[in-house]
Amino acid sequence: MSSVLDKKENKEDEILDSALRPQSWAEYVGQDKIKENIRIIITAAKNRGQTPDHLLLYGSSGLGKTTLANLVALEMGTKIRIISGPAIERAGDLAAILTNMGEGDVLFIDEIHRIHRTVEEYLYPAMEDYKLNLILGKGPMARTMELKLPKFTIIGATTRPGMLSAPLRNRFGATFQLNFYNQEDIEKIIDRSAKLLKIKTEPEAVGVIAKRSRFTPRIANRLLKRVRDFAEVNGVGLVTKEIAESSLNFLDVDHMGLDLGDKRILKAIIEKFDGGPVGLQALAAASSEEEDTILDIYEPYLMQCGFIERTPKGRMATFLAYQHLGIKKSQTKLI
Ligand code: ADP
Repeated sequence: MSSVLDKKENKEDEILDSALRPQSWAEYVGQDKIKENIRIIITAAKNRGQTPDHLLLYGSSGLGKTTLANLVALEMGTKIRIISGPAIERAGDLAAILTNMGEGDVLFIDEIHRIHRTVEEYLYPAMEDYKLNLILGKGPMARTMELKLPKFTIIGATTRPGMLSAPLRNRFGATFQLNFYNQEDIEKIIDRSAKLLKIKTEPEAVGVIAKRSRFTPRIANRLLKRVRDFAEVNGVGLVTKEIAESSLNFLDVDHMGLDLGDKRILKAIIEKFDGGPVGLQALAAASSEEEDTILDIYEPYLMQCGFIERTPKGRMATFLAYQHLGIKKSQTKLI
């Protein structure tokens, strides 16, 4: 059974994502400051008859970066092309993408921190002057060719802004950090999704799902769908508080949204490293998780909950983490 935190989405999740993706600013719940800022940028650009600045969005997966980019294109009345950074393998790929864009279109580059360094260098003049300087041939016979590009807006998305090189980061006109949502906003998102998917829910059930959603819209939607399945099989189709609680317990999603992976990581810090500090590599080995998964999926939420602290010497489990797992701090001191 796939975890609700799975980074690699399957086809079904992709379909769910696009079926539930907000189609207007009004449907995009929360992140009010970012929405307002982006709308000002768009309106100002429209008034000047220009394309908006390139925008960089960062924050955990599922918080609504792709959705925001879609809304920007919608507001501009232009098209959006979505591509993953590492999928652009050569300068030629980038040239093919950029020369096929229309005036004012949006290019959404997901995981922009993983873009190949050689491709990145071609991106600089493209972002600054809408030019692409291609090198044709090799050695003394090499020639450069300048391609003029339509004016476009790049919206870069990343879970790791620190991994972007300074020259790339500096070419974005504005950078926005998407944060975890609050309980009220996640409940609104679940209510909207339930309506769209024709799922009957009790208000208390929505509250339970929201609390366990890691305050992330994509996870909230996935949980809702899983809970609906339980309601259909075990009940009369109505998602009650009891069904929400028992099905999420069954899926090993606890009352704060932690799953077995989160607990493995916390337990590794506590039991194998006496609460830390522990370096990322050692933690990955001890918890059998990939370093990237810890950094992108688990750690942001564990830090948000106050269960992990990052110190210059490594990760440490906090008192709250011990409490959550029901482990007494002194018990782990073996020496
Ligand atoms: P990201 O690009 O950050 O991984 P997405 O934009 O793909 O996240 O969002 C994942 C899903 O979560 C979307 O399909 C949408 O259904 C839902 N979603 C995200 N942000 C919001 C929001 N602010 N309001 C309502 N639904 C949202």
